[in-house]
Amino acid sequence: NMTSLGKELKYKDLRFVNEDVLKGVFNTTKGSVSPFVLTGMEEEKKGCYILRPWAYCVWEEIQKFFDEKIKEAGVKNCYFPMFVSSKVLNKEKDHIEGFAPEVAWVTKAGSSDLEEPIAIRPTSETVMYPYFAKWIRSHRDLPLRINQWCSVVRWEFKNPQPFLRTREFLWQEGHCAHLEKKGADDEVRQILKFYKQVYEELLAVPMIDGVKSEKEKFAGGLYTTTLEGYIPETGRGIQAATSHNLGQNFSKMFNITVEDPSKPATAGEEAGKLWVWQTSWGLSTRALGVMVMVHGDDKGLVIPPRVCGTQVVVIPVGLTVKHTQEDGRRVHDMCLEIESRLRSSGIRAECDLRENYSPGFKYNHWELKGVPVRLEVGPKDLQANTCIAARRDTMAKTTLRLDAIAQQVGDLLETIQADMFARATQRRDEGVKLVESWTEFVAALNDKKLCYIPWCQETECEDAIKERSAVVSDEPQDERAPSMGAKSLCIPFSQPKELTSSTVCVHGGNPDYSFPRLLAFVY
Ligand code: AMP
Repeated sequence: NMTSLGKELKYKDLRFVNEDVLKGVFNTTKGSVSPFVLTGMEEEKKGCYILRPWAYCVWEEIQKFFDEKIKEAGVKNCYFPMFVSSKVLNKEKDHIEGFAPEVAWVTKAGSSDLEEPIAIRPTSETVMYPYFAKWIRSHRDLPLRINQWCSVVRWEFKNPQPFLRTREFLWQEGHCAHLEKKGADDEVRQILKFYKQVYEELLAVPMIDGVKSEKEKFAGGLYTTTLEGYIPETGRGIQAATSHNLGQNFSKMFNITVEDPSKPATAGEEAGKLWVWQTSWGLSTRALGVMVMVHGDDKGLVIPPRVCGTQVVVIPVGLTVKHTQEDGRRVHDMCLEIESRLRSSGIRAECDLRENYSPGFKYNHWELKGVPVRLEVGPKDLQANTCIAARRDTMAKTTLRLDAIAQQVGDLLETIQADMFARATQRRDEGVKLVESWTEFVAALNDKKLCYIPWCQETECEDAIKERSAVVSDEPQDERAPSMGAKSLCIPFSQPKELTSSTVCVHGGNPDYSFPRLLAFVY
């Protein structure tokens, strides 16, 4: 039942306004079409999702790309258990305070109560770092750079949203240790760059990169760099991926030390001790939700060519009762021939030769699934040695020559990828506004804009901005609901324009600041 499911998961926040299309994309009943399935009302699966193969292959493309990047950079993959004892989980005070409300606990084995409940990882810092302490013996063991692809559980209660905020999600988490702060700083930025490539080059979604405010940084870390996306339809920002410099906080708690190479042991004295500098960084299946919301339209999904499981669908058309069986066979053979030519030049192509469905039905089917290019091949095309290509993103049609089909389709896919990014960037830019006064700020937020505001970097001011911009609502709200007020996204690396010396914080706070920009959003 999509209505109740929708209420639960707030799917209305997704871009689609056409309910039927929405049902097609996320339904559990239209079995063969829906690429994503949201799990239902059963308590244990609330706020979870199933990735059917059509959705999972997008995740696989992301994995392939990112995995290659990090391996080139010297990171190695590994796997750790999903359970963590409460003693270890509680070691870093700020960390557990940040995660405590969302931790799921195992309290029973069979019918007997466990002596100590065991937590399921919400993230694996505390699972891994006791072992870092054992493995890192000398500065020669550094840097230690590992990554795991796994799922984590964060028992989000009030406001789960499909893919964006779910209770169990797939992600990768990288964890590294360095001798010096610089090693950690450089790595944090390098990984953020890879994440930006995933979003911009694969998913065609523009990102704003920057640093989180102290209030919004990762619990227990030194600082957090982040990618922030923007959904024009809802006017909301969305944290797309994060790369944290954990400083020495965790290494002090978990006692991860090496001998200081500049103070080796002497006859009378022990060697100097250094706590390692650590990083952690994560990208989750939230990326799929962001892609769906940014590109989807009233006909369904629009998936960028680089990540779509099927890039081209070939459909026989124009066969009527007037045509002979032989005509039909020749058209089908040509479809298969095109499929094979495209595949041999590395394009993911597929024929839809199902006899019991009309071309129109097939068009809808593949449009809903968001396949970037549809090729239509009919009896007339055979004679002219051409076929029609229809783009999913613009719905525009062009005629292609069969003798150059692989080249032309390849070019078209690249054009679509580039156009999707350009359009998304333009829409994002139109939604962004630089404002310098409180009145302008509230008006722009109400207009669903993402605002750049001057800010004095004081947490009290950030809190006050959130409070003052809150929408009055009778409904009980959770911490992250938009009506709770505007929330900062990041201090962007690229500042939109120089501020003058007379510019003051939008909330009128401390005029004595040197890095005065903050992003904010509301509903
Ligand atoms: P964090 O460890 O909190 O920095 O999270 C790393 C990344 O995972 C974030 O930047 C989000 O993109 C994503 N993420 C966090 N919570 C969720 C969730 N409940 N569902 C899906 N993705 C999430």
